[in-house]
Amino acid sequence: CPDTCRVPRVPRMLYPKAHVLQPTRVDVLLMTPWFAPIIWDGTYDSAILNAQFKNTTIGVVVFAIKKYVVFLKLFLETAEKYFMVGHRVIYYILTDRPADVPQIPLQEGRRVVILQVRNYTRWQDVVLHRMEMISNFSQQRFLHEVDYLVSADIDMKFSDHVGVEILSSLFGTLHPGFYASDRRRFTYERRPLSQAYIPEDEGDFYYAAALYGGSVAEVYRLATACHQATLIDKANGIEAVWHEESHLNKYLLYHKPTKVLSPEYVWDERMLRKPPYLRRLRYVAVPKNHAQIRSR
Ligand code: UDP
Ligand code: MN
Repeated sequence: CPDTCRVPRVPRMLYPKAHVLQPTRVDVLLMTPWFAPIIWDGTYDSAILNAQFKNTTIGVVVFAIKKYVVFLKLFLETAEKYFMVGHRVIYYILTDRPADVPQIPLQEGRRVVILQVRNYTRWQDVVLHRMEMISNFSQQRFLHEVDYLVSADIDMKFSDHVGVEILSSLFGTLHPGFYASDRRRFTYERRPLSQAYIPEDEGDFYYAAALYGGSVAEVYRLATACHQATLIDKANGIEAVWHEESHLNKYLLYHKPTKVLSPEYVWDERMLRKPPYLRRLRYVAVPKNHAQIRSR
């Protein structure tokens, strides 16, 4: 049995007791209908979780293709401050410009691995081919080097704690633009010709492609399935409306995530006003000029 399905073992510890009749949050949903916890501030104890995930190695997969290398510095600097502090981390930086990867001082037990990959002219192809590359490198490296994989957008920064509370066999994040929406308003792919098609009467959540992950084996399955789906779409002359995010949403509808991250974990301060029940903004979009940054 792999690490991820063992009962967690912890040493003797002192911490406040949970109260069955005093729920930690009453303003937000804490559990999906299939009993996956939804992670919000105030619902977990980092001391217990850190003991539970001791000796875990986390791989972060980020793409910095073409001009997106400019985002690496702030991403890495803020990750060193807030992401999985005290745990072993490997940053896998997939880039076509290895010479432009900045040297950032890292905490003990953390390192950068640069993986050179090809680029594509169209930005849509860059984002779609993320799944293929994650699938290939999972087999080649990730499966042998880390326990969990976290796939993250690079045009973001960490602004508060993101720790092992997110780790689970398969996790997705509620997209900040749609967490309160009716399923009909989700921007799923609605054309039946696409492999990413989801009919109007289905759907749990709209998940953001900017942050998802799980055990390496589960992320490998997800990436491989999404890549296969994009190949079938291509053969049929169709491209899903939100590219790999559409395929991710289709996959997570039929492979229920075992944890769901609240929009604390993907937020955009320029697009959205912070509601009071969002107590912390942990991983937020860095403003960018879409046309400029995506041009060659
Ligand atoms: N990306 C990249 N180079 C590109 C386009 C995209 O490296 O030319 C990667 C990068 O990691 C980025 C991710 O693909 O964070 C998703 O694209 P983007 O962030 O532009 O999509 P958005 O968040 O705006 O939907
Ligand atoms: Mn992004």
